[in-house]
Amino acid sequence: MREDLYDVLGVAREASEEEIKKAYRQQALKYHPDRNPGDSESESKFKQAAEAYEVLRDPQKRARYDRFGFDALGDTGFGGFSSAEDVFSTFSDIFGEFFGFGQTRRGPRPQAGGDLRYNLTVSFRDAAKGVQVTLKIPKNVACADCGGSGAKAGTKPESCRQCGGTGQVHQTQGFFRIAVSCPICRGQGSVIAQPCPRCLGRGATQETRELSVRVPAGVDDGARLRLRGEGEQGAHGGPPGDLYVVISVEADEVFRRQGQDLVYTTEISMVQAALGAKIEIPTLEGTESMEIPKGARSHEVFSLRGLGLPVLGRNQRGNLLVEVLVATPSHLTKRQEELLREFAKLEEEKPLKKVKNFFKKAKDKAMGS
Ligand SMILES: [Zn+2]
Ligand SMILES: [Zn+2]
Repeated sequence: MREDLYDVLGVAREASEEEIKKAYRQQALKYHPDRNPGDSESESKFKQAAEAYEVLRDPQKRARYDRFGFDALGDTGFGGFSSAEDVFSTFSDIFGEFFGFGQTRRGPRPQAGGDLRYNLTVSFRDAAKGVQVTLKIPKNVACADCGGSGAKAGTKPESCRQCGGTGQVHQTQGFFRIAVSCPICRGQGSVIAQPCPRCLGRGATQETRELSVRVPAGVDDGARLRLRGEGEQGAHGGPPGDLYVVISVEADEVFRRQGQDLVYTTEISMVQAALGAKIEIPTLEGTESMEIPKGARSHEVFSLRGLGLPVLGRNQRGNLLVEVLVATPSHLTKRQEELLREFAKLEEEKPLKKVKNFFKKAKDKAMGS
């Protein structure tokens, strides 16, 4: 029965990434073979801590381990440690170049893969409702001709003579002898005499990888989705980078966006504004009928609750704001004009009643009544 990985590091199950890193650092320093020469128990504890850290530092592996225990990690998922060098690569990841801990690690250093950025344009409606998209991402894969070695078929990379295949050479600076990356093989430990013609010695060719991504409903222009570990592959056992999907949302012909609210502007006639009316309003789902009250003014805004955009991560929606513009008729029939003139006459008969009252009141007040 293997010891629980959290117990190995002595952290709680809900420990943060930072706490896990710190706990591993402590264990690694305590049990480092250089500090405990010939102590096999320390050595195995050092190895266990590195194994535990390798899983718990990776959110995906950690989640799988949390749910399914060691079964989930299996042989492939766990990554495992085939040799002491792997343990030290984890170790050096966290400590960086660390002098004084011997020269146990050989060959090139692990390098984290680069982050990738993908610019994705989605329609206004897709952004509002959410959409599943397939991204085509260029990816470096091992060259099929040379199997990733970079050497021409039938030849092999040769061990670098300058550094004896270690990828490092030593320089003396004052009292110190320090290890630096070998300038001949650039830290690879080997050199290619005859490069593979297909990949030109790079060992990798570019292919397109398809990745399915869910764009969440309500996403805004300029939003970034981070897909952990979907960036470029790391080299020499380094972790992969992340993929950032940057969203551009196209403008819509019908709606504008204002935070999580949708804005819809519509014209109503002078008569509708004066008498009130029932009008049809387009929504994301279809249409909705809305009551315009009597006496609506131009640029007045009416709100239809809950018909706006979904609020990210919450079961909630903004509102649909309907702005009305009152249209002044420009082409009147004779009869319409007659009626309006009659209407105007009525207006003249009771002109500014309220204003008169106001003056009267003001006068009364001034006279002290
Ligand atoms: Zn090749
Ligand atoms: Zn070399």
